[in-house]
Amino acid sequence: MIYFQSLTQSELAELLLPLSRVRRPGDLTDEMIDDKCRRQARYRAKQLFHWVYQKHETDWDQMSDLSKDLREWLKTNVEICRLKEHTKQDSLDGTLKFLWNLGDSKTIESVIIPAALQEKDEVDSNQDETDAATSSITPSLYAGKRVEGGLQGAQWSRLTACISSQVGCAMACKFCLTGIQGLDRHLQTHEIVTQVHELRRIAPITNIVFMGMGEPLHNLDNVAKACQILLDQDGMSFSKRKITVSTSGLVPAIVELGKRVDVSLAISLNATTDEQRSHIMPVNKKWPIAELLKACREYPLGAHRRITFEYVMLKDFNDTLEDAARLVRLMRGIPSKINLIPFNEHSGAEFKRPTDDTVRKFQRYLLDRELTATVRISRGRDILAACGQLRSVFGTARGTERHRDWAPAPAASTTGSVTSLNLLN
Ligand code: SAH
Ligand code: SF4
Repeated sequence: MIYFQSLTQSELAELLLPLSRVRRPGDLTDEMIDDKCRRQARYRAKQLFHWVYQKHETDWDQMSDLSKDLREWLKTNVEICRLKEHTKQDSLDGTLKFLWNLGDSKTIESVIIPAALQEKDEVDSNQDETDAATSSITPSLYAGKRVEGGLQGAQWSRLTACISSQVGCAMACKFCLTGIQGLDRHLQTHEIVTQVHELRRIAPITNIVFMGMGEPLHNLDNVAKACQILLDQDGMSFSKRKITVSTSGLVPAIVELGKRVDVSLAISLNATTDEQRSHIMPVNKKWPIAELLKACREYPLGAHRRITFEYVMLKDFNDTLEDAARLVRLMRGIPSKINLIPFNEHSGAEFKRPTDDTVRKFQRYLLDRELTATVRISRGRDILAACGQLRSVFGTARGTERHRDWAPAPAASTTGSVTSLNLLN
């Protein structure tokens, strides 16, 4: 059996080619027959992409415009992968987090993160971003109240699927719960695609970020192919601007990603000197900041696109204005936007979250120097939505015992006073 979600449309057409039949082949040259068969296989592959990804049909027999022969062949040769829900948690702020069981009983996480229309309006109205970021819109929408209308409601401007690329992660970043768990295995292409496919059944997902568990560029083949499938205009039809691959900085794989597929890039920078960065991200010892930024400068960005730089803010470690000044210098000449992420505390790390005031001052410093800098709220904090946290409590993570005592922040602090605008976009 082949998983449907592991195939690009052209691979599917190749697979269907031996099933193509041409009427009255005697009238045609070999070349003409071959051409007709290829066109037929391509047409069928397209029909199948529509059925599976756009109409969400899972029963081959219901695909009424396919021949009976083809349906029978599909039944014995191709399987539409489904992920089994292990745990689902919904947050007061609308964030919905899933822990999925894979075929081999490993578990992975995906999260749906909604961005409210009001948030978008505030940004689009082109007002001062800091004022917008500290305005009261998000608390009034979320604080202590359950979001009305579910994810189908019209109040969302964006529904972002945050998906995993590996079971665990090998990169061992010191602040990250997934990093502490270590790598179990890569996800296969169909396991990546199916996360989005499942979430699309639940909500009209508009954006995808590879910011769940795992280092996507450590699993480049499967991630690049999954992106190709997600971008297919006959399938889920995401636009290249709406898929973001986030990496801790595997330089050769960044270059390779740019060659294979046209998607947006995010870099988890998190520090501004090599000494500091190597301390929290071992990957920096292999590919230091200068090499990483060189790869960013050379990344094939289309017109009007920018690289997102994520910066996890760790109290008394990388949150001073000297850090901000170095960050400004590092960003010179790179079309960038900076996403400040106040550290999401967990018992597995030695770090603390800086105060909101420190975060705001850091952001103000960047904005005053004409950088785009947004602060990402810790969405879904009441449901363990930070990277690796759900799995560490309910799942099959190594190191689970060490984190049993981890408790989510109380719901009242879900919003905090620093809110996110331009969340992950
Ligand atoms: N491996 C990829 C993508 C997954 S991690 C990468 O590192 O980019 C997604 C983001 O979550 C990264 O920017 C990472 O720095 C951040 N992150 C991890 N643990 C965190 C925590 N406890 N608090 C805040 N951000 C965290
Ligand atoms: Fe892996 Fe990203 Fe976590 Fe680092 S931050 S350990 S690369 S998931």
